[in-house]
Amino acid sequence: MSTGSISFRIAGRVPIGGGSSILVQTMCNTSTDDIEASVAQCRAMAAAGADLIRLTTQGLKQVESLREIKRRLRAEGISTPLVADIHFLADAALAAASVADKVRINPGNFAREHEVACSKFRELIALCREHGTTIRIGLNHGSLGERITQRYGATPLAMKEAVMEWLRMCVEEDFFKVVVSLKASNTIVMVEAYRLLQAAMLEEFGRPFPLHLGVTEAGGGDEGRIKSAVGIGTLLGEGIGDTIRVSLTENPVHEIPAGRLIVRAVSEGYTPYGSRTRIEADDWEDFIIKGSCLWGPSLLDRKTDDFSLEGSTIAGAPVSEEDGERFRDMLLQACRRRFTKPEYIACPGCGRTLYDLESTFAEVKRRTAHLAAGIKIAVMGCVVNGPGEMADADYGYVGEGRGHVTLYRGKEPVLRRIPQEEAIDKLLALIEEDQKKR
Ligand code: SF4
Repeated sequence: MSTGSISFRIAGRVPIGGGSSILVQTMCNTSTDDIEASVAQCRAMAAAGADLIRLTTQGLKQVESLREIKRRLRAEGISTPLVADIHFLADAALAAASVADKVRINPGNFAREHEVACSKFRELIALCREHGTTIRIGLNHGSLGERITQRYGATPLAMKEAVMEWLRMCVEEDFFKVVVSLKASNTIVMVEAYRLLQAAMLEEFGRPFPLHLGVTEAGGGDEGRIKSAVGIGTLLGEGIGDTIRVSLTENPVHEIPAGRLIVRAVSEGYTPYGSRTRIEADDWEDFIIKGSCLWGPSLLDRKTDDFSLEGSTIAGAPVSEEDGERFRDMLLQACRRRFTKPEYIACPGCGRTLYDLESTFAEVKRRTAHLAAGIKIAVMGCVVNGPGEMADADYGYVGEGRGHVTLYRGKEPVLRRIPQEEAIDKLLALIEEDQKKR
């Protein structure tokens, strides 16, 4: 945790920053307008121990749905703060400021003209001040505006610079209930961006705003957990970060135990600067997370090239050679040191996803597992943010409304709105055709 970060209480009760416990959060993948399903998912998340729950809030209609979801949860005695996830619509953010406990925005998306975006942001600050609402400025590597990339490229430095502009405005407005995130799917970019931001905040403001850590589009299963544990664990081990989300292309309830395991691993000394040199894990998930926190940071920073599993145990038994090798391959790939299979980028899905993302992602992985190591394939839930967020993927499978998919080569849509049943075959054909041309 950043012991010196600015501290406050979200919704007047949940402390963040200043050395309080790391908050573990997650996000619903239900449609926010499906009140029953969203309440049920929030209930399951709260029972799993979520400290904060985020819901997709595309527009004013979803703000009203969020109001009703909150009302029902509070009536059941569930007091977990709710976060409205806004992407583009400033008016939705302004309306959500009096409904949600926290509003997640990227102010750069509020308007094309920077001046208009600035004035909307100031309006939002005023409303959040009035209602005691927290703001998260959430900037992703894939969604940097042209204004910034023209100057700094799509780099960690650009991410830091972009967010510092908005933070200066918060300081000018004397508004400090702000959390910041700078996510990327590339663990090196993600770690570097947060390190730069932490140093810049310390230098310019004297103390950092609380940070929300996460590796975006991490995928699911072991790979998703390992990527997240490498990025989040590295930073927590350096005392950077106040709240975390492990984004998984799975049932979002699974994100909570995975997040808690990362926090526990770091607190038990599974970091390069901690007291541990080998792993004592309860089970496989605990093992891969502890291993990622212990060996990931120095692999990521190229201080080491490999690691030894000697003496490490899972439930008291030595780690088998086969499991050890499987973990080594996944960890080296997550740290971008050695690629032994295709690299998958998949969003966790949210209220904008209109297809079964988890099973589609599993099928895409199964059908493309034979392809060249390191080829980057993205599976994204929606066309609103998917193409921007899939970063530097070589190929993209992007959901486009119900039953349709658009396939991308890099950033270029090459097959638009094709029926979903044909999409994986067409994706494979596209990749194979390109490979023949090489
Ligand atoms: S890409 Fe779209 S569907 Fe996926 S998490 Fe982002 S907004 Fe949601």
